Amino acid sequence: MRIAVLSDIHSNLIALEAVLAHIGSVDAVWHLGDVVGYGPEPDAVVERLAALGATGVRGNHDAAAAGGNEIDWFNPDARAAMEWTRLTISETTRAWLDGLPPRRVDADFTSVHGSPRDPIWEYVTSAALARAGLSAISTEHGLHGHTHIPIAFTQVDGRMRTLAPRAGNTVALGEGRTLLNPGSVGQPRDGDPRASFMVINTDAGTATWGRADYDIDAVAAKMHAAGLPVRLAERLRVGA
Ligand code: ZN
Repeated sequence: MRIAVLSDIHSNLIALEAVLAHIGSVDAVWHLGDVVGYGPEPDAVVERLAALGATGVRGNHDAAAAGGNEIDWFNPDARAAMEWTRLTISETTRAWLDGLPPRRVDADFTSVHGSPRDPIWEYVTSAALARAGLSAISTEHGLHGHTHIPIAFTQVDGRMRTLAPRAGNTVALGEGRTLLNPGSVGQPRDGDPRASFMVINTDAGTATWGRADYDIDAVAAKMHAAGLPVRLAERLRVGA
């Protein structure tokens, strides 16, 4: 079974389409939250994921878009984009976002947006936090997003091994418990502006990272037309 693992799409339909084209056919699509926020096409992204039968979890932006007070913690640009998102999305989109659970368990994998301990807000940015996260779940593996930076933590003989995966890098799921971040589809922050994603192959026991080029100018034009903050478009060009 091949599973596309996508996180932090952030209303960037053009990046999502580029990733889906790059990956080709899969048996399932799992998303790790922040489907909306920042970008210009929230309804279209939700429609696309719903049509794919994608399953996933709620991010802080999804919770805010559905009406939650998470918006109170957003920086000014994120808040301006979220206020636009709330005014723009359809009731169908709002209800779909509101229905996302904070956690999902699918076979050997627990999915969250932030961290297993605090699925909405905690950023897993160190091996110590990854260890704490793994101790908070009962499945062999965990999947998370939120940082917008692809990373893999593998626990082998009690020690944590950290990999900052590049496109094409693979982690063997049989070597130990893992906590894996596919990076961000719609707003990468690791210095590489290409859309980031991961594919799990359960038969091979692997997780493999990939990057897809997409038309950033076209997304920026849609953001300008929508009146979204200019800085949010500019950061797409540098992937930071
Ligand atoms: Zn995000």
